[in-house]
Amino acid sequence: MEGPVPELAHRWRLGVESAAMTNATATSELDAVIVGAGFAGLYMLHKLRGSGLRARIFEAGSGVGGTWFWNRYPGARCDVESMEYSFKFDDALQQEWKWSERYSEQPEIMRYLNHVADRYELRRDIALETRVTSAHFDEGTSRWNVSTDRGDRVSANFCIMATGCLSSTNTPEFPGLDSFAGRVFHTGKWPHEPIDFTGRRVGIIGTGSSAIQAIPIIAKQARHLFVFQRTPNFSVPAQNGPLDPEVQERIKAHYGELRRLGSQMPFGFDVQLNEKSALEVSEAEREAEYEQRWKHGGLPFLGSYADLLYNKEANETAAAFIRRKIAEIVKDPKLAALLSPEPTDVAGCKRLCSDSGYFETFNRSNVTLVDVRSAPIEAITPTGLSTGKETFAFDDLILATGFDAMTGSLLRVDIRGAGGATLGERWAEGPRTYLGLSVVGFPNLFMISGPGSPSVLTNMVVSIEQHVEWIAECIGYLRSKGLARIEATLDAQNDWVAHVNEVADSSLYPRCNSWYLGANVPGKPRVFMPYLGFPPYVEKCNQVASRGYEGFRLG
Ligand code: FAD
Ligand code: NAP
Repeated sequence: MEGPVPELAHRWRLGVESAAMTNATATSELDAVIVGAGFAGLYMLHKLRGSGLRARIFEAGSGVGGTWFWNRYPGARCDVESMEYSFKFDDALQQEWKWSERYSEQPEIMRYLNHVADRYELRRDIALETRVTSAHFDEGTSRWNVSTDRGDRVSANFCIMATGCLSSTNTPEFPGLDSFAGRVFHTGKWPHEPIDFTGRRVGIIGTGSSAIQAIPIIAKQARHLFVFQRTPNFSVPAQNGPLDPEVQERIKAHYGELRRLGSQMPFGFDVQLNEKSALEVSEAEREAEYEQRWKHGGLPFLGSYADLLYNKEANETAAAFIRRKIAEIVKDPKLAALLSPEPTDVAGCKRLCSDSGYFETFNRSNVTLVDVRSAPIEAITPTGLSTGKETFAFDDLILATGFDAMTGSLLRVDIRGAGGATLGERWAEGPRTYLGLSVVGFPNLFMISGPGSPSVLTNMVVSIEQHVEWIAECIGYLRSKGLARIEATLDAQNDWVAHVNEVADSSLYPRCNSWYLGANVPGKPRVFMPYLGFPPYVEKCNQVASRGYEGFRLG
């Protein structure tokens, strides 16, 4: 779409004006409201503008960047290589940007996203420090009335939730948390000013990806670090390092090829997937493969064999390898055992962690690992923490306790669809969507990386680009046909939800208490939220579009 087709623009604008007239207070009119200014919101704005739409982003944070704006804890970096964890939509952008490390750190990713905002002059259409509080669909006008905590009232044809899968922090209700006299930090809402732990006693709760990145760095600063671990995690060294400029140039010379290859992979990036089963090769061959992957580093470890995430016996060969590595790295055998996942645990069932010196950190004399599975945290006290067995004293408490993932940020907005039903009511038993893009009863509302799409199981930038482009094309189609409304049908949604579950159940993913299942948040319905398999998903989306938005009702 190059811009509004003139004869249709009139009808479009009519819709706009009638919506404005229904509102008692001053309301701005837009074609689209975008909520969130991370990778997703920024690209969505750029794309819609390119189609001649009037769009505006509302972002709760005081800057752009989303995940990379909020997660400023020491050691925060990506776990998909930067050459892939970046936009590909504009070759000029990917050619001009230079990454300094294989896995870039948070400040560099923030610089990149600020560069994107500047390069495409996005800021004039971004309202920062503005949280969208409600979005109500008006049946009469087929428009969304959106309100913010700053008193904005906006009416738009489309409401696009680019609110992120990991943007609502999860803080468990530890008794006494408010009584703690020292500083409290959450990794997902880290302060902007530098935080110095020198000379301090620090307690950190959690051993997920965030903690695993932060612990080695904080341990070097702190007088003492207590790590409160409920579940030991599988982690593989990132083998991070500076990105050789020559290597970078060589990649850039064939960037299109790398991007194409990544998009054809189940996880949307090049994990060098071996098509063999772990069980069809000799033990020696397997060991050599795992060793080579361990030296290469990071998430491609899970690409060692095709059945690692589908067959428990195959998975156990990889899990046992990681446990042996932990036993080699950690000098105290008791500590090594405590840091080792159980043989019943599935490697990669919770997201595999990618670390820089995590297990090595437990060889330091100023680090204490505390098992809060056998003796759970009973209370946070003014001076530290008590478990059923012991008390611990520290000056600073870090909550590395993760996120209310995938649905948290959507459900924190009062979203009401046709007939006034809220999204919370519709999702009382877990999220149900068509393609993770749309929900029955919520016309003209799109989600980027919504539950039911590959999202968090992929290189998210690739998934985000695919969603943004699909949504922009869909809106372009509606405009070209003079249509004002699109809504998923119940049959299409039911079939899709059943398919998402069927695919998940064919894998080992539902076998652990992961945030993919909502299991980390007490009371959250247990539903496997992401869709496993990027290429078949893209094929389905393309098919839906090419068949005139099959499974949607247009009007
Ligand atoms: P976000 O970046 O989360 O942006 C959403 C924005 O919406 C936020 O800024 C939020 O403030 C805003 N928002 C939410 N609700 C409202 C509201 N009601 N009103 C206004 N604004 C609102 N993925 C990978 O693929 N590879 C990685 O290496 C990787 N590393 C990660 C590291 C960390 C520490 C974390 C937490 C996640 C990581 N992820 C990674 C996942 C990451 O979230 C995505 O890659 C990506 O950044 C998501 O972009 P987004 O724009 O969809 O969402
Ligand atoms: P997380 O993986 O959900 O980890 C949370 C940790 O807190 C877990 O160890 C959990 O233990 C623990 N925890 C939660 N509630 C607890 C309680 N009541 N008592 C004791 N322990 C408790 O969260 P995260 O580390 O922030 O990571 C979330 C996701 O963000 C990752 O999976 C990844 O997708 C992304 N991320 C990526 C990177 C990267 O490498 N690029 C870095 C950070 C985050 P249990 O396991 O027992 O529940």
